[in-house]
Amino acid sequence: MPMGKAAVFVEPYRFEITELPTPEVEPGGVLVKITAGGICGSDLHYWRGEMKPMLRGKPGPVILGHEMTGVVHSMGKDVATDSMGQPLSEGDRVVFTYFFPCRRCYICLRGEPNHCPDRFRFRASIKESPYCNGGFSEYYYLYPGHYVFKVPDELPDEAVTAVNCAVSQVIYGLQIGGARMGDSVVIQGAGGLGLYATAAARDMGVAQVITIDGIAPRLEMARRCGADHTIDINEYTTPESRIERVKELTGGWGADVCLELVGYPQVVAEGLQMLRRGGAFVEVGNIWADSNVTLDVSKLIWGQTRIIPAAHYNPQILPAALDFLVRTKDKYPLTQVMSHKYPLEEIGKAFEQSEWLGKSEGTEITRAFVTP
Ligand SMILES: [Zn+2]
Ligand SMILES: [Zn+2]
Repeated sequence: MPMGKAAVFVEPYRFEITELPTPEVEPGGVLVKITAGGICGSDLHYWRGEMKPMLRGKPGPVILGHEMTGVVHSMGKDVATDSMGQPLSEGDRVVFTYFFPCRRCYICLRGEPNHCPDRFRFRASIKESPYCNGGFSEYYYLYPGHYVFKVPDELPDEAVTAVNCAVSQVIYGLQIGGARMGDSVVIQGAGGLGLYATAAARDMGVAQVITIDGIAPRLEMARRCGADHTIDINEYTTPESRIERVKELTGGWGADVCLELVGYPQVVAEGLQMLRRGGAFVEVGNIWADSNVTLDVSKLIWGQTRIIPAAHYNPQILPAALDFLVRTKDKYPLTQVMSHKYPLEEIGKAFEQSEWLGKSEGTEITRAFVTP
């Protein structure tokens, strides 16, 4: 089997480029050669040391990166098709889930594979098989039975990189939030996830999409991605004024669904108050520990407000996400969301740049990726 380059995350703010072996491909397995690995907001939490990457309960040097796409390098001889039944051969471009539910535990049996407690049991330790395994390495190994989907030729790698995380995450969030035709949907935050969510909500046929952010070029991008209204927090400077604006845009009722994609606990109370009675608040962004908020629970009861957390997604969303990107590729500038490209060796620079992109006033681009 080939050796592969990998950027090993050794400690906060430090990667080491190493060569690692790749695993023997067993019957039913697929070895993918990674062509692009995106830097997700959660990778930045690891990088800053706010979260520790765990390997079967223990911290250790790992290869980060879970937003990725690649081509089939080699596969077990009994693999003939992808999960949708399309013929699969070496060299085909593919996407796959970055988690792998066990399909035999109580939670999986309940039909909730994205909550499987064992879904990261194969996360790579660089010291044991599958060794070279991650979005920031040259290879990723799909164990027998892993979900894999062929990528349509129309989509460039930069459009596909975020499919298995950001794009699928927001589509799943909108689905479990129950967004339907006729609904008003509020999107808190117009970073990568917010832009994908804006376009996805628009494509689902809701009545109006209202996107909130404070960076002008991002709001402009949100409008290009289908936002009917944007709320600039520099113009509406208080939570009260923003809540009022949402009420105004929804005939006084409030929005049906609100997606939190900012990742600051402070915006939760505000988003909840933007909802109509019985509305759904979908929580996606506040992923690290101690994201505390104080809520008047009685208001949730009397407003019959639902708070729905969304982590990962049902794997069936992946082909739907690919289809969405093909269908809307000439309509929304979603390929521009991934705009900064770096070779794997410059991964440190890619992370620094991503940190800067997240804070910068003057940029309309939000996400960087590396090309192993
Ligand atoms: Zn991610
Ligand atoms: Zn399970």
